[in-house]
Amino acid sequence: MRCDVLAVGTELLLGQIVDTNSAWLGEQLAAHGIDSLAQTKVGDNVGRIISHLRSMLEHADAVIMCGGLGPTHDDLTREAIAAVMGVELELDEGIGAVIREMFESRGRSMPENNLRQAMVPAGATIIPQTRGTAPGLICPVTVSVDGRQVERVVYAVPGVPHEMRDMFERAIAPDLHARAGEQAVIVSRVLRTWGESESGLDERLRPVIEELDARGNPTLAFLASGWEGLKVRLTARGVDAAAARAELAPFEERIRAELGATVFGFDEDTMESVVLGMLAQRGWTLGCAESVTGGLIGARLTGVPGASKVFAGSIVSYATEVKRSVLGVGYDLVVTEEAAVEMAEGARSVLGVDVAIAVTGVAGPDTQEGRPAGTLCVAAIWPGGSLSRTLRLPGQREPMRQMSVISSLDLLRRALLAAEV
Ligand code: ATP
Ligand code: MG
Repeated sequence: MRCDVLAVGTELLLGQIVDTNSAWLGEQLAAHGIDSLAQTKVGDNVGRIISHLRSMLEHADAVIMCGGLGPTHDDLTREAIAAVMGVELELDEGIGAVIREMFESRGRSMPENNLRQAMVPAGATIIPQTRGTAPGLICPVTVSVDGRQVERVVYAVPGVPHEMRDMFERAIAPDLHARAGEQAVIVSRVLRTWGESESGLDERLRPVIEELDARGNPTLAFLASGWEGLKVRLTARGVDAAAARAELAPFEERIRAELGATVFGFDEDTMESVVLGMLAQRGWTLGCAESVTGGLIGARLTGVPGASKVFAGSIVSYATEVKRSVLGVGYDLVVTEEAAVEMAEGARSVLGVDVAIAVTGVAGPDTQEGRPAGTLCVAAIWPGGSLSRTLRLPGQREPMRQMSVISSLDLLRRALLAAEV
């Protein structure tokens, strides 16, 4: 089974939107063991959409089209598919009613052009909408290849990434497997890591990666995700979820054993949620003193539901004067471990918490106190221990600030693990 991808939208050609949908679909198709050998982008022009779709169907058993299903005049995917199928668009009353209801439930009247989304090529099956307004389509097509009539299928999904993903998982993947005459379920597991580069991980996991490459199932992918950490994703295929999980489990075990404390969490975990969880377990409260991050650590911590049980607050002590007057920093130079330690002690006493983290550093572009952009001094104190470190992070301002958040929390996490407190 070969399934190629056709992304529709002039914005994609102009570089106003990056075509992340095709990238995601490519990854998913590979994980499902379905060949995907070409990805195309085309603008909002019905003639060009039709000609690309026709030529893709000469080579692929299936084509997933994403985008151009909305209600406006430049949403042309439906028309193009109907032309390739050689059928008319028909109004689907059921979809029309759902769209109308959606507007009414929000107390608005529906602009008539929304009914365009209820127009369906004759003979197509609908992928019901669950979140947005545009339903997806499964369209059987007969095309002529080398003088032979062959059966193909075209899937159409909205361009909005979460709707596209939802429809792929719910309807397209099962349909592709059914057409391929097999039953398959995909299960993935994300190991969240911090403290090792992508190439470093690749080297440490080489034997596992080679074995996975040879087997083809499960598959492994690295995803560098900024301050979400570096994700190692294992994806396995099986006849049902239990079988897929059984494929995956031994490899997950081996990766965890190899990477040890570099793995900080799984799936939806974040560094913040993991650290808050560790502190909650110990019954400790947390406070911060932030200079270079200007409150980002506090912002990330408060993004975790239930953070209030642990997190008391963060003092944004950006100016040197504030470090001195609010936190009692006496040390001369403020981009130093000495100053960070004083900031942490100050935060602990001002906020009355058990554990404190402090960060001070140089976000750049200029140097400060002779220290280059990317310098981060971190200190942490907890009942029975403390640490201070100087790290060299990327020298650009925003990445530096974001890396400061995950790196400082990671230092505390590792210290607590090592201290076995
Ligand atoms: P809608 O019903 O929301 O209008 P649509 O099917 O018409 O959906 P588009 O109008 O093409 O989809 O795109 C809607 C939005 O989805 C775009 O503004 C963009 O943010 C996002 N999007 C579209 N195509 C892609 C793509 N290939 N990759 C990533 N994002 C995309
Ligand atoms: Mg649209």
